[in-house]
Amino acid sequence: MTYTNFTVETDADGITLVTWDMPEKSMNVFTQEVMDEIEQIVDATVADSAVKGVVFTSGKSSFSGGADLTMIKSMFSMLAEEKARDPQAAAQKLFDAAGRMSWLWRKVETCGKPWVSAINGTCMGGAFELALSCHGRVAASSKSVKLALPEVKVGIFPGAGGTQRVSRLANTQDALQMMTTGQTLTPQRAKAIGLVHQVVEPGELITAAKQMIKDGLKPVAPWDEKGFKVPGGGIWTPASAQLWPAAPAILRRETAGNYPAALAILKCVYEGLQLPFDLGLKVEQRYFTEILQTTEAFSMIRSLFVSMQELGKGARRPAGIPKTEFKKIGVVGAGFMGASIAYVTAAAGIPVTLIDRDQEAANKGKAVSEKLVADSIGKGRMTKEEGVKLLSLITPTPDYAALSDASLVVEAVFEDRAVKKAVIEQVEAVIPETTVFASNTSTLPITGLAENSKRPDQFIGVHFFSPVEKMMLTEVILGEQSGDRALAVALDYVAAIKKTPIVVNDTRGFYVNRCVFRYINEAYDMLIEGVPAAMIENAAKMAGMPVGPLSLNDEVAVDLSQKIMKASIADLGPNAVKPEHMALIDQMVDVFDRRGRKNGKGFYEYPAKPAKKYLWPELKTLYPQKKAEEVDVNVLKQRLLVTIALEAARTMEEGIVTDPREADVGSILGFGFAPYTGGTLSYIDGMGVKNFVALCEKLAASYGPHFKPTELLKDMAAKGETFYGRFDPYGKVREAA
Ligand code: NAD
Repeated sequence: MTYTNFTVETDADGITLVTWDMPEKSMNVFTQEVMDEIEQIVDATVADSAVKGVVFTSGKSSFSGGADLTMIKSMFSMLAEEKARDPQAAAQKLFDAAGRMSWLWRKVETCGKPWVSAINGTCMGGAFELALSCHGRVAASSKSVKLALPEVKVGIFPGAGGTQRVSRLANTQDALQMMTTGQTLTPQRAKAIGLVHQVVEPGELITAAKQMIKDGLKPVAPWDEKGFKVPGGGIWTPASAQLWPAAPAILRRETAGNYPAALAILKCVYEGLQLPFDLGLKVEQRYFTEILQTTEAFSMIRSLFVSMQELGKGARRPAGIPKTEFKKIGVVGAGFMGASIAYVTAAAGIPVTLIDRDQEAANKGKAVSEKLVADSIGKGRMTKEEGVKLLSLITPTPDYAALSDASLVVEAVFEDRAVKKAVIEQVEAVIPETTVFASNTSTLPITGLAENSKRPDQFIGVHFFSPVEKMMLTEVILGEQSGDRALAVALDYVAAIKKTPIVVNDTRGFYVNRCVFRYINEAYDMLIEGVPAAMIENAAKMAGMPVGPLSLNDEVAVDLSQKIMKASIADLGPNAVKPEHMALIDQMVDVFDRRGRKNGKGFYEYPAKPAKKYLWPELKTLYPQKKAEEVDVNVLKQRLLVTIALEAARTMEEGIVTDPREADVGSILGFGFAPYTGGTLSYIDGMGVKNFVALCEKLAASYGPHFKPTELLKDMAAKGETFYGRFDPYGKVREAA
């Protein structure tokens, strides 16, 4: 029998090697066809008396990334269509679909012949669950082998037996920790907690897996043996009496109750461990069906899985332009941003010429990479050879002539129009016609900067976020005259350095900073109303934001806010900034010299480590304080999220952002907008535009006209539309088809 996605060979010892290698895919993923073929392989190997056991491995460098996004997408559209017709039947259908993988893995586990998974590379989600259902697990001892059940990060949980098997193999605390955080395990760690039997040299993987079968591996899972005991003794033990009452409280502290899937993991394990295995699987299937129907799961899968992959693969790249092979990138300005841009470029294997005003300044920029490399080697994340190679790719120099063969030049000099103008002219004097010029400006409109260029169609914005080596997002900004080729080259560059791009039209603050400043401004309003600062910061965390607005302002620098506010007033007139906000920030900077983390004094105090930062106690004295009981924390949460989402809606209305996927992904990767919502526009779609408009009106009545819903929102509410319906990102693809 031949298969599309697998090769199956049985050796002289009767051991069948199943190698998963999907044609025309860089990674193995689960599709309906793959699952059908696995089922056929189980049936065929059971029926063939010559087969003694099965080793299951991958023919690709990774094992498998888990489920295919098209399969998940089709599950959601099936649910939506069925629900409209017959909600009861829809739930049943979803229940069956949700259980398909779970019961197939159970079939592997109970087929009567030993299966061993030979894990040669990254093994995630459903693939790790398949491995867990095998009777033996051998993993290669390699940095590229990463094991995880990361489902919770996209709003679901390991629903193909993961919650039942992990909690019967590892102790409960490790099991809960691993699944509720979606953390990645090394093979060594997986072995230490009982999830893998052997870790061997990569070259010995298949031999070791076969040897397990030859050594008489029993084709029975531990929980199918009589007298099986859960590690640590299960639920009714003194240790569990300590663990279980605390577990939901710890989860609540970490997630503020915003992630139903994380709580479902606790329920599955707690209930499942008190039941026979098959019943445990059924409990898991029920919770999984329930979680799949939550707005959180739908929105998170769409933004954090589907859209993120689509944007990463160049969903917005203009067609018909050949992919750019980067022979060299020029970075001009080796300061805070430029130095790190050089690092991420070299880390992607691309040679970089790093230019500053003199050799010393350029060398200082390269020294940042030297430190990052030394840290990575120290932490075992990079070998010495990799570090030497990376550093050899960065050439610091003050000589612009070295840019003559660069495919792209990224400018990161001072945020000053005159300095940028001089640099644009100096660079264009040496680069060939085809080289694209990208500015990393954060506040100057690209169209205005492009006026200094002789070929504005080759001029574009590539806006990085700090810290560059950690932040996954890059905003690509189109000036009025930026051409398709410039966009294609910019997107190829962002893909090469493994970041996710969003494409944004030119505007003050672009997309991310426009939203971020709304968030910070709302906190200023709250402070001025006398809301205790700690309540503001806590409400933000409870709303799902990773960093409170005052803490964020300290990171950005309070004096930078002051500079931006003054520039806005100068450019747009006195109404551009609320006078109370300007007064607050002038006082912070000019009277108290509180500039943020960088001078150790901002909305927070920064004592010497290891002491933790704490809110500046004098904040209380700036405005008459409300008592905590006078403030409704739920309203604070709403205000912080709504003001950001409303700004995102405005950027769509103005045509700054044109694709809802970009608004959503940009908001999560750019400033951590409450990930459980799926992003700014999914937050609005998730509650319904009509409800959002009503909420805006309510907030506007109490907290100011900046909450007034826009014309677009009112129109959408009247028509019952969603952002993903009105600005359908797939419309163009469908039209083309
Ligand atoms: P920085 O002051 O740390 O670095 C600027 C560098 O440019 C300095 O090393 C300076 O010597 C060099 N420089 C100045 N004039 C030059 C010239 N004529 N030729 C060559 N080099 C020259 O500034 P930064 O924070 O890295 O910001 C750089 C750019 O990045 C700005 O446009 C800023 O708006 C933007 N940006 C900054 C951040 C941030 O968080 N700091 C984030 C996104 C974008």
